[in-house]
Amino acid sequence: MAWEVVPRDYLNPFFIWRVLRGEYTPPDFELASVLGIDGKKLKKKGAKVIFFDADNTLFAHGAREADERVIKKLKQLQEGFELGIITNTYNPKRRGFLHKYFNKSQGLKMYVCASKVKKPGETPFKDALRKFKYKPSQCVMVGDNLFTDVVGGKRVGMLTIKVKPYSLESEPVHLRLMRFWGNLVFGLTGFFR
Ligand SMILES: [Mg+2]
Repeated sequence: MAWEVVPRDYLNPFFIWRVLRGEYTPPDFELASVLGIDGKKLKKKGAKVIFFDADNTLFAHGAREADERVIKKLKQLQEGFELGIITNTYNPKRRGFLHKYFNKSQGLKMYVCASKVKKPGETPFKDALRKFKYKPSQCVMVGDNLFTDVVGGKRVGMLTIKVKPYSLESEPVHLRLMRFWGNLVFGLTGFFR
C-alpha cells in the first residue's frame, strides 16, 4: 500500500459527519503538555499502555532532541506503563530516528508504530493494539491534534489526552492547513449535536 499523504478520513463525508455529531469528542483530559500527565489517575482508569503522538507532542515538529523534562517524565511513566509512539510521519528515516532516539540514545522502551495508514484512520491504532494485546480501553492516546490523535484514539475506544501543540511555528504549511481544517470541523461540532 502506498503512503497516505492526506489521511483519507479527512475527506470522508461519513466520518466528518460523525465528528460533527461529536461522537469522538471531547478528550478525556486536556493538558498544557505531556509533563502534566498524572500516572496515578490513568492507573485508576485501568490504563496499561500510553501511546504518544511524536511531532508537536513530545517535541517541536521534526525536532531531533526532546527536552530533558520530557525524557524524565517518560522514564517515570515507564515504571507503571508500557509506552509507544503512533506517528503520522510517512518518512521511514524519521521513524527509524524516533526508534533509535528513544530506545538507544535515551534508554527508554518505546514501541514505534509503523502503519502506512494515517491517524485518524483506525489501522495505526489497531496495529499498535495488536502489539500490546491490551483492550483499547486500557490504552491511552496522547496528542496535540484533536482531529488525528483524539478522534482516532476515541474511534477505537482508547482513553485520550489532548495536549497543547509544542510549537505551532515548527509545523510545515500542509500540516497547518490540515490542522486548520480539523479546527474548522470542530468549530462546527456543537451545531450538529
Ligand atoms: Mg502532532
